[in-house]
Amino acid sequence: MNIHFTEQELAFREEVRAFLKAELPADIAAKVRLGKKLTKQDHQRWQAILHRRGWYAANWPLEHGGTGWGVVEKHLFEEECAAAGAPRLISFGVNMVAPVIIRFGTPEQQAHYLPRILDGSDWWCQGYSEPGAGSDLASVKTRAVRDGNHYVVNGQKTWTTLGQYANRIFCLVRTDPEAKPQAGISFLLIDMDSPGISVRPIITLDGAHEVNEVFFDDVRVPLENRVGEENDGWTCAKYLLTHERTGQAGVGISKAALAHLKAIARHEVIDGRPALEDPLLRQRIAEVEMRLMAVEMSTLRILARAQAGGTPGTESSILKITGSEIRQAISDLARRVLGPHALPFLADEMVLEHEGEPLHADYSVTPAAQYLNLRKLSIYGGSNEIQKNILAKAQLGL
Ligand SMILES: Cc1cc2nc3c(=O)[nH]c(=O)nc-3n(C[C@H](O)[C@H](O)[C@H](O)COP(=O)(O)OP(=O)(O)OC[C@H]3O[C@@H](n4cnc5c(N)ncnc54)[C@H](O)[C@@H]3O)c2cc1C
Repeated sequence: MNIHFTEQELAFREEVRAFLKAELPADIAAKVRLGKKLTKQDHQRWQAILHRRGWYAANWPLEHGGTGWGVVEKHLFEEECAAAGAPRLISFGVNMVAPVIIRFGTPEQQAHYLPRILDGSDWWCQGYSEPGAGSDLASVKTRAVRDGNHYVVNGQKTWTTLGQYANRIFCLVRTDPEAKPQAGISFLLIDMDSPGISVRPIITLDGAHEVNEVFFDDVRVPLENRVGEENDGWTCAKYLLTHERTGQAGVGISKAALAHLKAIARHEVIDGRPALEDPLLRQRIAEVEMRLMAVEMSTLRILARAQAGGTPGTESSILKITGSEIRQAISDLARRVLGPHALPFLADEMVLEHEGEPLHADYSVTPAAQYLNLRKLSIYGGSNEIQKNILAKAQLGL
């Protein structure tokens, strides 16, 4: 198995580096580096820059306006973006609903929705989870009942990330309550400005508004907004989740976070010396760095196999568990290095425009909030416990 990059791939990496150097806005990169919140406009600006270069839809086939890249190009692109401080793309449109529309949508749905995702006209959010349906997704209860050429939708979705910005939501809805759970679900594309939809914020531990509850009260949705056959939405749901779970090791992001952690540890002082010289801290950083190197090597091995025509199986569960644990460990160390300076974070310092007196160095503003926020990594996209169940069954035969 060859896990070295070819000359062509290395040349591609240089091209990406040059593009990022020339085009990534410095103010956005500064926010990303310090872990500050990005606005909707920040995301849209970066998306428009990528779209102009033809690099926004990395996962799409060429004929739909994608890049047609292979797995290695996608990996290199993500690595370089993370290293340069580019924002992580909001996946719900480009990397989640779009592949479903490309695979299962009608030509009319493809012609309508795909260009609007590419040019940023639509901001999508994901309406899968409900108060009683998270890990056990097949138990969704939101009902869609036919009425002429519409469905009438009633129910509640939860944890809807950045739903406050969205003008569209893709939803799993129950269209046959009598069938066995997976067999009575349909996949609907719904306009967020439809009468009967209301969005309520959920404020997370770090004080941020990132997730929402979405309520549907007699919302009328045209039948032509269904993707795939009625009651066959589970097929779309599963296909979408395979896209949601790719790239979850987040090696590039962890590398950038580790470099940032070391920079903080060079500035902070423990017993009169730079914290980075403290033996216990060095040992902890070394442990996490070794795990990260191991995950990177596993990622490259999986890429090499995928490049040779194989498909990743349970390896993606290993990457999800380990990748999320590493990112959480790095955020924990950043908080520890800062000690009491990490504690009194001020919500308004999280935005770059804050003009008040800083409590400590600018890098001390976000680690506590980030530590709290990143607890989510081991929950969403399939919790780590569920990934361990998958490994226990598929790998260990338990
Ligand atoms: C920040 C954040 C953003 C999210 N964004 C979205 C979004 O945009 N759209 C969306 O649809 N959803 C979103 N989610 C929902 C996410 O997918 C669910 O939280 C996740 O699937 C877990 O479901 P749950 O919260 O209902 O927990 P539950 O399924 O109730 O699980 C609770 C605990 O029990 C464990 N558990 C459950 N079943 C088993 C089992 N069989 N064996 C062992 N342990 C088990 C779980 O691992 C977990 O620790 C988001 C979640 C978070 C935290």
